[in-house]
Amino acid sequence: MPSDETILQVKSLKKYFPIEKGLLRRQVGQVKAVDDVSFEIKRGEALGLVGESGCGKTTLGRCVLRAIDPTAGEIILRASDGATVDITSLDKGELRQLRKEMQMVFQDPFSSLSPRMTVLDIIGEPLWAQGVRGRDLEDRVRELADLVGLNIGHLNRYPNAFSGGQRQRIGIARALATHPGLIVADEPVSALDVSIQAQILNLLQDLQEKLGLTYLFIAHDLSVVEHIADRVAVMYVGKIIELADTEELYLNPKHPYTEALLSAVPKPDPRLEEQEIILSGEVANPADPPSGCLFHPRCQYAQDRCRLEAPPLEEVAPGHFAACHFAQELELTGVAM
Ligand code: SF4
Repeated sequence: MPSDETILQVKSLKKYFPIEKGLLRRQVGQVKAVDDVSFEIKRGEALGLVGESGCGKTTLGRCVLRAIDPTAGEIILRASDGATVDITSLDKGELRQLRKEMQMVFQDPFSSLSPRMTVLDIIGEPLWAQGVRGRDLEDRVRELADLVGLNIGHLNRYPNAFSGGQRQRIGIARALATHPGLIVADEPVSALDVSIQAQILNLLQDLQEKLGLTYLFIAHDLSVVEHIADRVAVMYVGKIIELADTEELYLNPKHPYTEALLSAVPKPDPRLEEQEIILSGEVANPADPPSGCLFHPRCQYAQDRCRLEAPPLEEVAPGHFAACHFAQELELTGVAM
């Protein structure tokens, strides 16, 4: 159950990558991977961040952890001692100290774990970095392995001895090692077999309840975040275009892009599958975005105004934000949860 306390506040965050050309690497443009994004997450809340690949969601997640430096904006984290800090202003040493408060679970459990380290060393690595040694370290690693459902008799094995689901459990145990309040989970189940995905999602949900974790949960598919997210933010070409409580967003979408993503969510009744909205074309190029509404070249409801004016993200119902000129007029189709 989310508390009233804000653990993370992201204000006007931007991440632009320069496009360089020629021997002198002259800058000829920029890719606006994250463009003026603001949101907050309450302690104990899971915020789903959803969009097609290339929409900027992974870049946003990496900026939030300062794995990459943002171009502009603020990222305010409330640490476990109650102090708030803008992590964009920290130097490397200060950031290292704060690392224990926020960790990442990666998409690919195969490439994110070193094949030359035992599971004990992998899970214990963040503890080692915090100065934990010897018996204390081993005891904590056993506790973590038990927490995520790994066999504690297998801690001296190497990652290649484990299945994809077990490797993701190792990655989750490592992320939890330093008692972080905030976990950024970047597509944590998309590389796994469908049969294993539900197990890992259930584990993440159980851990959230048990440990009071806060998640920024990144996915390309709305069906993945359906049961885990309290609220969902939908991203398109570097911007949040809709944000609402999960149930409200599923039942009552206010942006045509969200409606299209929802139409692809597997339905219990196969006859409803025919209603899937096939989006034409690709996600707009963030280095050369279209005029007006970024979604207009693919939007079945686009009108002249959409080609000229960019719609701002506005509150269209209590707690429900959408960036569409016609959010109040369109009667879009949602899905029952
Ligand atoms: Fe579609 Fe226009 Fe709304 Fe953009 S502003 S989503 S183009 S209807």
